Amino acid sequence: MTRTIVIIGGSSGIGHAIACGFTRQENSHVIATGIEASAPEGFAGDLLEFQSLDVGNTAAVKAFFSTLDRLDVLVNCAGIIRRNGEEFTASGFEQVIDINLNGTLRCCEAAKPLLARNGGCIINTASMLTFFGSAFSPAYSASKGGIGQLTRSLASAWASENIRVNAIAPGWIKTDLTAALEKNTERSAQIIARTPMQRWGNPDDLVGPALFLASDAAGFVTGALLPVDGGYSAN
Ligand code: NAD
Repeated sequence: MTRTIVIIGGSSGIGHAIACGFTRQENSHVIATGIEASAPEGFAGDLLEFQSLDVGNTAAVKAFFSTLDRLDVLVNCAGIIRRNGEEFTASGFEQVIDINLNGTLRCCEAAKPLLARNGGCIINTASMLTFFGSAFSPAYSASKGGIGQLTRSLASAWASENIRVNAIAPGWIKTDLTAALEKNTERSAQIIARTPMQRWGNPDDLVGPALFLASDAAGFVTGALLPVDGGYSAN
């Protein structure tokens, strides 16, 4: 039996690393989606199938899942952040919530019938800003706080249909999303100082936790938010 694994927002960064991680398991067909029109530079096209998908577009999300014959694992990794005060405006706030939070729900809803057929699971992507506020990114923080409650709520609601729903909560990981922050030497030093393991994370640090949550070893785990943060949230 070949498992079908879909990584939404799997074209770069954390999602891409997780998608590549799933290909190392036997009998896995891995589809990675992204907002880009075609697979971006660095995409592992030899391992992964790429599909363009905007999670802000409900019809496109439904159409994408309707093409699948089966689905065992859905990883929701699409996410954006807006800087320079944009998230303090109503339009900037709505845009970030719509992609990060509503987009996750759109994919969960469209995937649910397929997942219910095989006892599948969902892994959402939370954040340290699921647990803490941010003076710079109110929309991103609100969206990630919402991911925590959405994850717990869907876990409760869908357990009876044999669907597990969990989230990974990455700490500070080197990707395009955080490149500007990492280049800010003062902020970057503050992050490292607060992280007990004294470093930024890499996208590959999220692979093992995602594989675990999608495995039979996590068969009694649902509604969990798993920090992968070098101890940041424990400090
Ligand atoms: P990234 O920019 O490398 O990846 C973002 C992904 O989202 C890409 O695949 C992109 O195509 C996709 N995407 C963006 N807009 C989209 C849309 N409208 N529709 C569909 N896909 C869209 O960034 P990343 O750091 O790898 O982020 C991945 C996830 O991890 C995000 O949810 C982010 O919030 C979360 N996260 C990242 C960090 C970090 O430190 N990098 C920490 C906590 C959580």
